[in-house]
Amino acid sequence: MGSVCFVSQVATKELLLRVSRVCGECYESFKEGEVIHYDMQSYRYLCQGCQEKLCEKMNALCEVEEEVGEGLFR
Ligand SMILES: [Zn+2]
Repeated sequence: MGSVCFVSQVATKELLLRVSRVCGECYESFKEGEVIHYDMQSYRYLCQGCQEKLCEKMNALCEVEEEVGEGLFR
């Protein structure tokens, strides 16, 4: 899923040397070759799963709407 709120890129070895090597949300380590997503609102990198979850909670302005209350925190 693409989103204007994120910059998606493949985690090359060079990239992983420059950025935080773990997901800013679940703290999973990124693997080389994995697609990672830079969250331009929070200035952190996210893994695919967390990016998708965050995307669902974001409105058109890339703001996380916390008052959804529909069990999205699973
Ligand atoms: Zn994650």
